[in-house]
Amino acid sequence: MNSVTISRQADDFSVFDVDRIRADFPILQLKVNGRPLIYLDNAASSQMPQPVIDRLVRYQTTQHANINRAVHYLSEIATTEYDNARCKLQQFINAREDREIIFTSGTTDSINLVMHGYGRKFIKAGDEIILTTLEHHSNIVPWQMLAQEKGAIIRVVPINDQGELDIDEYENLFNERTKFVGLIHVSNALGTINPIRRMIEYAHRYSVPVLIDGAQAAPHMTIDVQSLDCDFYAFSAHKLCGPTGVGILYGKATLLEAMQPFKGGGDMIASVTFEETIYNTIPHKFEAGTPPIAAAIGFGAAIDYLTTIGLDQIAAYEHMLLDYATAILSEIPGVKIIGTAAEKTAVISFTLDGIHPHDIGTILNQDGIAVRTGHHCAQPVMQRFKVPATSRASFAFYNKKTDVDALATGIKTVQKVFL
Ligand code: PLP
Repeated sequence: MNSVTISRQADDFSVFDVDRIRADFPILQLKVNGRPLIYLDNAASSQMPQPVIDRLVRYQTTQHANINRAVHYLSEIATTEYDNARCKLQQFINAREDREIIFTSGTTDSINLVMHGYGRKFIKAGDEIILTTLEHHSNIVPWQMLAQEKGAIIRVVPINDQGELDIDEYENLFNERTKFVGLIHVSNALGTINPIRRMIEYAHRYSVPVLIDGAQAAPHMTIDVQSLDCDFYAFSAHKLCGPTGVGILYGKATLLEAMQPFKGGGDMIASVTFEETIYNTIPHKFEAGTPPIAAAIGFGAAIDYLTTIGLDQIAAYEHMLLDYATAILSEIPGVKIIGTAAEKTAVISFTLDGIHPHDIGTILNQDGIAVRTGHHCAQPVMQRFKVPATSRASFAFYNKKTDVDALATGIKTVQKVFL
C-alpha cells in the first residue's frame, strides 16, 4: 500500500482514497443477511488488512519456532522477528528504549501487570488511587481488587453532561496520600479525548505515576510517550488492525525495573535454584512463558500498515466522518447522542426514544450493519447518564461516508418497526 495524502484542513472526503484502502480489507467484501457488510464496531475490534494476514501466513509457513531458547535456524529467525516487532512498537509510540515495551495479551493484561507489579509493591493502606468516571472496567476492577487487598481508597473524577472530565475536580482530589492515577486516554463508550498531557503534568507535581489506558487512542492518533511523559501506556493490537491475543505495556525503564514480576515461569528468570530465583532484566522479567510470538509479529505488520497511511491522516479523515455522522444523526427525531465532548474520536453513542438498544442492534444487523449495543464495559458512564445501555457506532479509516448514510437509513427503519 502506498501512502495516502490528505490535507488536514480539507473537509472533502475525496482527498482520502478510501476505496483504495478498502481493497486491502477482504472482510469488507462480505455480505451479511444478503447486504454488504457495514462494519461500525471498530472500537470493539478493527478489521485486518491483507498485508497483516500475509505476514501471519509467512510467519506460520516459513518462520515459526519457539523463541529465545534454541540456536537452530527457525528459532533464531522467530526470535529476531519477535524482537523487530518490539522495536516497531517502540518507534510507533516514540519510547526511549525497546526494553520499555512489554508484550502482553492486551490492554487488560497490561493494566493487571501494573496493578500486580507496581501496585502490590508500592501502594499501602490509606493510599489513594485516582480513576475517572470514563474508565473501562479493565481500569477499574484491578484497582478495586488492590484497594480491597491493601486498604487503599479509590477517588473518582466526575464528568459533565457532555461526557468531559471535570479537571478542577481532578486537581482537587490530589493530596499527600495520592499514590497513583489511572486514566483513560479516549473513552470507548463516548469517544471523549481527555486532556491527558495536562493531567499527567499535574500528577507529577505530586510525584504520582500515571497509567494511561490507550486502547481507544492508539488506533486513532499519533502517540508520543516521551512527549506526554506518561509513566505507563497500554493498548491492544486487535483495535489497530492486528491480531487478537497481544498488546503492549509501555513503562518507563526505571519504574519497570523497580517493579516485581506479575507472572512467574520460563524466560523471566536469570537463574533458578530451590533456594532462590534471580529475575531476568526487563522486558523479559514481565514475559513469562511462551509469548504470543505470531500475534506480536502480526502486530508489527499492522503498525507498518498504519504508519504507511499515517496516523495524522487517519485522524483527519475519521474526524470528517465524525462531523458528518453527528450532523446526519442529530437530524433524526428521537435520536439522542450521548457524549458530545468538544474533543472526540469517531464514536457515536446514542439512544432512540422508546426503543431498547438491543432491538436497535438486532434490526440494524438485518441490514448488514454492525454496531455495538450494551454498556460497553463502562457501567459508571451509563449510570452517569442514567441509561442502561446505548447503541454505539464506531468508525475506522476504511469506513465511508455512505456507511453513515446507511446507518441513518437503518435507524429510520428501526423506528418504523418499533414505533
Ligand atoms: N480499555 C478500553 C478503553 C477499551 O476500549 C478496551 C476494550 O474495549 C479495553 C481497555 C480492554 O481491551 P482488551 O479487551 O483488548 O484487553
